[in-house]
Amino acid sequence: MPLSDIEIARQARLRRITDLAQDRLGIPDEHLVPYGHHKAKLALPYIHGLEGRPDGKLILVTAISPTPAGEGKTTTTVGLGDALNHIGKKALIALREPSLGPVFGLKGGATGGGRAQVVPMDDINLHFTGDFQAIALAHNLLSACLDNHIHHGNALDIDVRRIVWKRVVDMNDRALRDITVGLGGPGNGFPRQDGFDIVVASEVMAILCLSTSLADLKARLGRIVVAETRGRKPVTAADLKVHGAMAVLLKDALAPNLVQTIENNPALLHGGPFANIAHGCNSVMATRTALKLADYVVTEAGFGADLGAEKFIDIKCRKAGLAPSAAVLVATIRALKFHGGVAVPDLGREDLGALERGLANIQRHLHNLREVFGLPCVVSINHFSADTEAEHILLRERLGAFTGGSVPVLTARHWAEGGPGAADVARAVVAACEQPSTLRFAYDDADPLWEKVRKLATRTYGAADISASSAVRKQIAALQEAGYGHLPVCVAKTQVSFSTDPSQRGAPSGHVLDIREVRLAAGAEFVVMVCGDIMTMPGLPKVPAAEHIDLDEAGQIIGLS
Ligand code: ADP
Ligand code: MG
Repeated sequence: MPLSDIEIARQARLRRITDLAQDRLGIPDEHLVPYGHHKAKLALPYIHGLEGRPDGKLILVTAISPTPAGEGKTTTTVGLGDALNHIGKKALIALREPSLGPVFGLKGGATGGGRAQVVPMDDINLHFTGDFQAIALAHNLLSACLDNHIHHGNALDIDVRRIVWKRVVDMNDRALRDITVGLGGPGNGFPRQDGFDIVVASEVMAILCLSTSLADLKARLGRIVVAETRGRKPVTAADLKVHGAMAVLLKDALAPNLVQTIENNPALLHGGPFANIAHGCNSVMATRTALKLADYVVTEAGFGADLGAEKFIDIKCRKAGLAPSAAVLVATIRALKFHGGVAVPDLGREDLGALERGLANIQRHLHNLREVFGLPCVVSINHFSADTEAEHILLRERLGAFTGGSVPVLTARHWAEGGPGAADVARAVVAACEQPSTLRFAYDDADPLWEKVRKLATRTYGAADISASSAVRKQIAALQEAGYGHLPVCVAKTQVSFSTDPSQRGAPSGHVLDIREVRLAAGAEFVVMVCGDIMTMPGLPKVPAAEHIDLDEAGQIIGLS
């Protein structure tokens, strides 16, 4: 029996985080806020003091359209960070923090896997340094103050039918999706329809991840629009005078968390917004700090490159002034066969025909990264034990022909072998970072909101056009009119297809992207264009992972993956 992720993680010899910070990153003790021996926050004044230093190179790890076969972005991010250190580079990893809902649900943790993990994996996956709890509290403080304001006379004249601010909890709990609050009589406020989202879907999460300082955080919190008045004017957190208290709850959460990989290389883990209704990558604070502390920073964006990499570039990089030097596109033979039409139970069998058909998906993503966004690329094929040599050879040949040999295609074995297993990828990435690159965006700030979505859809999703009902068109026009037209757009669509139809694998073309709903995230500074059924409160599967997670007699956690 191969060791489970948690067994491998437990075998790791962890260094004291203060020692690691000192000798690997040169961070003096007094600038660290340790949470036990193996986790620490970097003090905010220290971070701001780094501003004059030059930046290292930023490397974005992204992937083909996700499949149930699994691709391995986090594993690759960790493995590549270890591999860069292994070949003698000063590299730092920047990742999102895991959300508890998926840990107890279907997906499990989000700390990598095999020999490519960040540790202590159980702490990181369970409560870590409390950032998500702080975000939930800040969010729910605003919810409570909103209902309280209405209860005490509603001086702002809030229209209770037009409240858009829900409540949040970090748990997959479908029973909380649609609820009624305020039942039980006049002492309990006004009954109204409400609901819960999972914490990663909170705008407070997106705000925390895009803020550059406490002052910026507080200002953004103040701009959150929670409802409309009966005269259809927006009501903000600042109108409710609660953004200061929210910032107080978040002041520690804004500081990035330092941990290590099982090979004792440093990693910053901070924030974790959804990649559909939000931008899906770790905090700007963590990325910027990492760039000051290391020569190479490896970071992951959520879902496939059409959602994760696009938002990383069009939202995070645009707003924070970041520019990746290279992108690593992760794929697996299994996932490409899935895109070629193979059913999940058959993915373990060699199937060159299906692999060939599935290439359309990786080719579209490669085209987007190189031609639309202007990034040098490396393809990293995450090796699974059932892969055959013939499949890897075919993939290298076909992608070589597709790119005229200009994109290295390498097989990565970090999951089985740790950093040394991805040394070739690391060398290729270092070379890619030396190539000239000019980051481009998919649309311009000055493009109207509608045009932004149209450019995205036609340039990167292969769509023929976009559409929307007249009500949605009116809403978009109203936002444009109200002065939000300069904001980036955040498309929320299925992650499994370039189209809005999850059954369309590969690289569908000629479809029409229908915008069903528009949501303003005024504090995070983007306009969410909802194009499909987007779940902001997931449910648990029939047999949730929680049924297998337990404590053994020695008090050790078992069953966490
Ligand atoms: P992503 O970040 O793309 O969601 P992860 O890196 O978290 O993917 O990997 C998803 C799951 O697949 C993890 O449980 C990981 O252990 C497993 N996995 C990743 N790479 C391999 C591999 N090469 N062989 C076997 N399992 C793997
Ligand atoms: Mg991941």
